Amino acid sequence: EDVLRLAALREGIRAVPDFPVPGVVFRDLTPLLADRAAFAACIEALASPWRGQDVQAVCGIESRGFIFGAALARELDAGFVPLRKPGKLPPPVVEVDYALEYGTDRLQARNDALRPGQRTLLIDDVLATGGTLCAARALVARLGGALLGAQVVVELDALRGRMRWGEGAPLRALLHF
Ligand code: AMP
Repeated sequence: EDVLRLAALREGIRAVPDFPVPGVVFRDLTPLLADRAAFAACIEALASPWRGQDVQAVCGIESRGFIFGAALARELDAGFVPLRKPGKLPPPVVEVDYALEYGTDRLQARNDALRPGQRTLLIDDVLATGGTLCAARALVARLGGALLGAQVVVELDALRGRMRWGEGAPLRALLHF
């Protein structure tokens, strides 16, 4: 039954070759979001391994992590904290810089977004190289949160983001490509 449900979720993900740049296969999750049964099944499947772990805050990464993160936070009866690209949040913020293939990027959060030791789950839509998720983990540490782990909808296995993440905290993926 689980296998059937996951197969239905896979069908809601569209592969778009050479977007946004040549050589990248973009995973478009908007068909899944638009399908009420698939979206509900997706949020339920994201939530189920974390139930009973007293998740107090879900941190979602801008911008597609907000969509899944807000729904997941409601499902787990947790608060939602947005981790944002620079220039979006009013001060005071804390921030972490991270390397991209070309140049750097930055994630920010309100400086008091988490209480010390607050039990926190990270979420994003797609794990690729893992740079973004590792930066988000560093930001949670700066905020004083207690990281329970990370959840993604899709893991792109060939890009080895899981190796970069390491084994210090659990990383769960619903689907693999
Ligand atoms: P990375 O830091 O390399 O793990 O990239 C992860 C971030 O980039 C996530 O926030 C994803 O939304 C986005 N991303 C990277 N690669 C893809 C892809 N092939 N399809 C969709 N989103 C992607």
